[in-house]
Amino acid sequence: MSKFPKLFIPGPTHVSDDILDVLSTKQIGHRTPEISELIESLIKGIQKVLYTSNHIYLVSHAATGLWEMGTKNSVEKGILHCVNGAFSSKWALSSIKNNFNLHSIEYEWGLGVKVDDIDKELSTGKYDVLAMVHNETSTGVMSNLKPIAELLKRKYPDIIWLVDAVSSMAGIKIEVDMLGIDFLLSSTQKAWGLPAGFSICSVSDKILNKSSKVKNKGYFLDLEVYEKYYNKLQTPTTPSLPHMFGLKKILEKIEEEGIENRWTRHKDMADYTQKWAKNHEQDLFPEDGCESFTLTCIKNIKKWNVNEMSNILLDKGFRMDRGYGNLRGKVFRIPHMGNIYMDDLVEYLNVIDEVIC
Ligand code: PLP
Repeated sequence: MSKFPKLFIPGPTHVSDDILDVLSTKQIGHRTPEISELIESLIKGIQKVLYTSNHIYLVSHAATGLWEMGTKNSVEKGILHCVNGAFSSKWALSSIKNNFNLHSIEYEWGLGVKVDDIDKELSTGKYDVLAMVHNETSTGVMSNLKPIAELLKRKYPDIIWLVDAVSSMAGIKIEVDMLGIDFLLSSTQKAWGLPAGFSICSVSDKILNKSSKVKNKGYFLDLEVYEKYYNKLQTPTTPSLPHMFGLKKILEKIEEEGIENRWTRHKDMADYTQKWAKNHEQDLFPEDGCESFTLTCIKNIKKWNVNEMSNILLDKGFRMDRGYGNLRGKVFRIPHMGNIYMDDLVEYLNVIDEVIC
């Protein structure tokens, strides 16, 4: 078995050697002109990837903390969660533990979030915040943000909209300003193609204003604290510099590839994988039209022995996914994001072809 198999799990994803190299760049002081220059270049690059002029905060911990950064800075009346998989469910759990008034719209796993359900609930007037996961990594379901954006603009302009884009940001086009997302969050170990432990969010003026009125939000996740340091092109706490050097490298690679080419690459790899699955008479787990562009979740109707295949693949140098949580054994996921290019994907699927059992 290879000690460091190539990762084909949907996070952490494969990090190529050119990126690993820059992670060991020499340290710089976190209150120096050098860091401000670095942070400024990261902000500009990320704003381009997200089609936004919103402020971008760089955060040295996992994205799970940003769920609470979003909610603690916005919920006063109540929060509506859309739950259609393991991560949206955990986010709702975090709101329960924060003692917010909340309601969850529960979907069967595999389904996307539906705008009419959101409309029905928001019309009760019980909420000031809406939270949802754009790309449910557990099920490979990507929900359509556009109709929800239109609904919020048309009927609920005061609602604060929080979106988890952990497995879509930098792999799927999300036009933040056009959609009007108040708080978009991600960590770096998925489509950004960096190690885990670092997060990124974009924040609108609307959530910043709201934050200034919300009580009991603590210090560590307070947007006002982040904003104060943002204005100095610094971070509130000592940041993970290796991640920042890595992000700079990724942004350069995105620039080289061309942003539209990046979106097309991810979509092409999704199409290729879906076709591959269908050619093997397997089903896709997500409902039609909600298939993610960054990972493909395959319903194992052919009853392949995924555990055995995973062992053989490990011997061949690949770490395979065998399904998340409740879905383990029923589905498996093929990630195709970040540093995975078509050649990597084709190689991996060809190797799977050799080991199907
Ligand atoms: N949200 C989604 C959709 C995820 O896939 C994950 C992790 O896989 C998380 C949140 C949690 O991210 P982190 O481990 O960075 O806290």
